[in-house]
Amino acid sequence: MKKILLSLLIVFNSNAVCVHEYDIQGHTLLSQLHTLNEKTTFYQKENGTFEEVSYLKNIHPHKSYRIQETQPHIKKDYDDRYIKYYQYQRVIEFLSEIGPSLEQLDYKTEVIGKSLENRNLYSIFPKTLDRSKQVILMFARHHGDEGTANWIVEGFLKKALASKKFNDKFQIVLYPMINPDGAQAKRRYNKKGRDLNRSWGSTPSKSYDEIKTIQNHLNKVLLSKTKPIIALDMHGSFTEDFIYRVSKSFAGKDFFNLQQEFISSLSERDQWQAGQYNVSNGHKKMSRILLVRDFNINSLTHESIRDIPLTRNRTLQHLEDQGRAIVDTLIALY
Ligand SMILES: [Zn+2]
Repeated sequence: MKKILLSLLIVFNSNAVCVHEYDIQGHTLLSQLHTLNEKTTFYQKENGTFEEVSYLKNIHPHKSYRIQETQPHIKKDYDDRYIKYYQYQRVIEFLSEIGPSLEQLDYKTEVIGKSLENRNLYSIFPKTLDRSKQVILMFARHHGDEGTANWIVEGFLKKALASKKFNDKFQIVLYPMINPDGAQAKRRYNKKGRDLNRSWGSTPSKSYDEIKTIQNHLNKVLLSKTKPIIALDMHGSFTEDFIYRVSKSFAGKDFFNLQQEFISSLSERDQWQAGQYNVSNGHKKMSRILLVRDFNINSLTHESIRDIPLTRNRTLQHLEDQGRAIVDTLIALY
């Protein structure tokens, strides 16, 4: 009964997103241009990158434009007003802090390549895949400005690495910061203006920039050998915590129920997620959609609020606890 009740907790809130994305005809765009925020509204260029809408000259009335309305960039005194922003530097420190545990559990921490601005792209993965264990795949920070996601990843890793129960059952493949240049600049996009969660091709040769490196590595260490039991892509949304999943028609009823199991079980341990989800079949070049469609992997996007005011009775500790809740959920479910 509990499961049924939880499955009714569908939240369709227009702010329950990490970006507002839509296609618009040129003539409509022309008539609405004055209502759009020039600093937070981006259009997609012919080459697939995004640029501020204020640079858009010569709008063709009969052409369709892909628009992304992003969250405002809070520049001033961020860390005094919001839960501390998770910087690129922090991921380097954190990986060094947990280095000994990773080594002891036979994980490799590797710089698998560089971002466009020459920052490290990291992966943590098992030196050897243990066939008696399930693999958990996790990504964070496709979108540079969604810092809270990384605090949740820290909580997840700290708990996972310290839990015998977890390590007896699972191995982790993790890409902790996919877009370090965006993270450094507090920007959704990579250096070129690409949305890296719209940059996964069916093969790495068809993917873009940092994703090419990550996808090549992922194929080599994991997908060419075995399938993870679940994939979680960690993001930050405007105002809600929730999970993105695919519709029943996208991958069938059993798959829908499989995704529900995780969402329901997590809700018992995470008061912020609380069973909330959005159904979205996303974008064909999104990591979550690629993994569901091409690999039939239970792939979900985990969204927590991106900018959390310090007055909101929610702390960095709560974010880490959300990561711990994921560990407990996985142990309970699989
Ligand atoms: Zn995002």
